[in-house]
Amino acid sequence: MEDGIVKAISSDGTIRAVIAATTKVVSDARERHNLSFTATAALGRALTGAALVSSVVAKRGQLSMKFQGDGPLGKVVVDATHKGTVRGYVENPQVELPLNSLGNIDVGAAIGSKGYLHVTVDHGFGRPYTSTVELTSGEVGEDINRYLVASEQAGSVVILGTHLDANGVEAAGGLIVQLLPDHTEETICKIENNIAQFGSFTFLMSRGMSLDDIMHRILDGFEVRPLTGIEPLKFLCQCTRERFVEALTILGPRELIEMAEEEGQAEGRCHFCNQLYHVSKDNLLDIARRKNA
Ligand SMILES: [Zn+2]
Repeated sequence: MEDGIVKAISSDGTIRAVIAATTKVVSDARERHNLSFTATAALGRALTGAALVSSVVAKRGQLSMKFQGDGPLGKVVVDATHKGTVRGYVENPQVELPLNSLGNIDVGAAIGSKGYLHVTVDHGFGRPYTSTVELTSGEVGEDINRYLVASEQAGSVVILGTHLDANGVEAAGGLIVQLLPDHTEETICKIENNIAQFGSFTFLMSRGMSLDDIMHRILDGFEVRPLTGIEPLKFLCQCTRERFVEALTILGPRELIEMAEEEGQAEGRCHFCNQLYHVSKDNLLDIARRKNA
């Protein structure tokens, strides 16, 4: 299945859902950052979560999430734009933990259950605003759910999955279901039943189910009205070499010349995508000359 995201509402207006497939996104993140299995599962869930939450709360802008827990992975930072791009990183990408008692990758222990999730929404006009909630478990889905319940004042369910095998990412994806103000006891009953029957997101993907199939499964018993077609998602960073060079121009001419003479170049790496940028000695001297002029 190709990566993508799709949104739907029930025709009675009581419930809506957004569903994403992110296998390639998570696989790209794993390769770019050379992530351990544990870090892949954690960052994979966070990237998928960012794409989903962005589509719910930051329709025309950008959303950033920072998981700051007390676990060995350190902070996990992701962002998503309304153009279907996501990017992110983990502070300690090599950390590998043993499987938990259920035989799953122990994302909760890796991120840690004590700490905070900071969510910043930038609608592209006015000031961005940040909300903070305490982490629930460090398992990502539950933490995002706590944020949604606090910020949207509506019951929701977040399911995220990243399935890895020895070769890497086999499947990744997730969904958010939200109760809308007109929901009834019957809505809650039906959706709870559907969740109980749902199984694992990545298992359904590996069985060949499409996003539409999965949408109908989670909203079984409701008449589903799609709000969007399937929109593509990809791991893409906004960094460029020009921006890296731009950042160097905050240094004074003397510092630039010193760097050119002593290091022979300037080197910098983008946190978000791990892209390495070089600026040659001649370029550094050029920038210094322009600053002197
Ligand atoms: Zn970058």
